[in-house]
This record gives sequence, structure tokens and C-alpha cells, in this order.
Amino acid sequence: MSTIAFIGLGIMGSPMAVHLQDAGHAVVGFNRTAAKAQPLVEAGGTAASSVAEAVKAADVVAVMVPDSPDVEGVLTGDDGVFANAQPGTLIVDFSSIRPDVTIALAEQATAAGFRYLDAPVSGGEAGAKNAALSIMVGGSAEDFAAASDVFDAVGKTVVHVGPSGSGQTVKAANQLIVAGNIALLAEAVVFLEAFGVDTEAAVKVLGGGLAGSAVLDQKAEKMLGREFAPGFRIDLHHKDLGIFTTAAREQGVVAPVGAVVAQLMAAARAEGDGSLDHSGLFQAIARLSGRD
Ligand code: NAP
Repeated sequence: MSTIAFIGLGIMGSPMAVHLQDAGHAVVGFNRTAAKAQPLVEAGGTAASSVAEAVKAADVVAVMVPDSPDVEGVLTGDDGVFANAQPGTLIVDFSSIRPDVTIALAEQATAAGFRYLDAPVSGGEAGAKNAALSIMVGGSAEDFAAASDVFDAVGKTVVHVGPSGSGQTVKAANQLIVAGNIALLAEAVVFLEAFGVDTEAAVKVLGGGLAGSAVLDQKAEKMLGREFAPGFRIDLHHKDLGIFTTAAREQGVVAPVGAVVAQLMAAARAEGDGSLDHSGLFQAIARLSGRD
């Protein structure tokens, strides 16, 4: 069992840190807003008052913060991981960030004597709470094997997808697929409601055929009930679609459907819906038809 520093105890990080503590690891958590460490403390973990304090005796440092600049700040600042963790520490970045930034951070980490894995997750808040995340891991096979106890405590489908940055590339594809599913489900619900169809019945039968999906299972009810508490915020999905479109452009990959979906997500955010769950994309799509 390891001493694990967990940086970023938000919607995803908090339940993940609790699962690691419950699995028998000694978890020292740090969150900028200190109150969010409470569930970890109640599970027997420890709350640190800085990143430096959290990581100084850690075997593993887990990071779960929103975006590329946030991970850079946590790792490279004076109070950060590189300046304060012990050489040989295994850094596992669960955040969804840019693949190119990940590769640069992994190189810095290796040069400073650390081990580094990118390990973005899919499965949402429910997946984090149920320790059932899908985890796409980039880095060396040796480091992947060394982190198996950590991954097994929070995930159900854990796959080593390639060298550093590969996890983030797979996650960008994941976010394209999820956003496209949400957009089409939203258009379908607007369409069904416009015809006065029994939408509960429609969703039930659609879920049993080829139109069925995890997105339909988890998001259709939210759209029908207009209940968009996060979950996964539109702000974060906008960030992820930016990662996808930038990486695709750099690689010469043309993704017209993805571009439209990215614009719809940007519209939802621009219209003030950024803090809603990404199923709230429904509202931006309904507004296009003059509906709500
Ligand atoms: P969240 O609830 O906003 O939590 C993010 C945490 O990071 C907060 O506790 C926040 O602290 C902290 N933080 C933010 N900026 C920071 C900084 N610059 N330095 C230090 N700490 C910082 O977000 P989340 O939903 O857990 O998402 C975290 C990551 O997981 C993102 O990359 C997201 O794309 C990915 N993800 C999310 C989901 C989901 O369903 N939510 C699913 C898969 C992947 P404060 O409390 O002080 O704000």
C-alpha cells in the first residue's frame, strides 16, 4: 500500500481519493478550497494545506484539476510537485488536458527524476463515485504496471494505450464521441416534443435498439426533466472540444461533424450555460428551434 498525494478534490477527485483511502492507501489530499477535503478526512485520509506538504512523503502523486495551465501550475510552481516530491515518485495525471502539454510535462518530470503517466478518465461523476471509471493511460509499460493498485481502486476498464500523451489523445476522441451523441440526442428530443410524442416511451424503445447508448441511458432523463445540475460542466466539455479541434488541425485531420458540435458547445457556453451539466447542451439546441 502506498502513500498517495491527491491534488484536486472536485467532483471527480473527491470520490476517487476516498476510494483510494478505502482501498488501504494513506491518502493526503490538497484542494485549493479547503472544505472539499472533508469527505477524504471523514474516510480516514489527511488534508494538507499546500501541494508541497501533500507531496513531500508521497510514493504516488495523483492530479485531478480542470485544464492544462492548472496541471502546469500544480506540477511546476515553487510550491509544486517537481520542487517538493521525492525523486522516483510516480505522478499520475487523471486530468483531461492537451496531449502536447502532457508530453512536455512528462519530459520535464523524467528529467527531474520522476515517473509520469497521463491517465484521463471517462464515466462521469457516477463512474467516479462507483469506482467504475474507464481509464486511458499513456506512458511506459513499467510505470503502468506500477500504478495498477491505484487504477484498480478507481477504475473498471483500465487500458495502457501507448507512450506519453496517448491517454490524452484517446480522451480527446472520447469527448468528441460523447459530445456528438449528446447533440444528436438533444435534437431528437426537441423533434419528438415538437410532435407531442410520449417522450418517456420513445426514449425507452430507442434505448433498446441501435440508437441506444450510455449517453441515452444517462442523459435522456435529464433532458426530458430539464434537470442540468453538473455532473460534467459545459465549460469543461468546451475545453475538451478545443483540445480535439486543435490537435486534429495540427495532424491534418478533417472532422466536420466535430467542428459543428464544438461550435454548438461554444454557443451554449456563450449564452451563459457553462456551469450546467453537458446534457444542458439541450437548451442551446432547443433555442435554435425557438423552443425551451
Ligand atoms: P471540478 O469539480 O471543477 O474540480 C476541479 C478541482 O481542481 C477543484 O477542486 C479545484 O479547486 C481544483 N483546481 C482548479 N484549478 C486549480 C488550480 N489552478 N490549482 C489547483 N487546484 C485547482 O472538476 P471535475 O469535474 O472534477 O474535473 C476535473 C478533471 O476531470 C477535468 O480535466 C475534467 O475534464 C475531467 N473529467 C471530468 C468528468 C466529470 O464528469 N466531471 C469526467 C471525466 C473527466 P477549487 O475547489 O478551489 O475550485
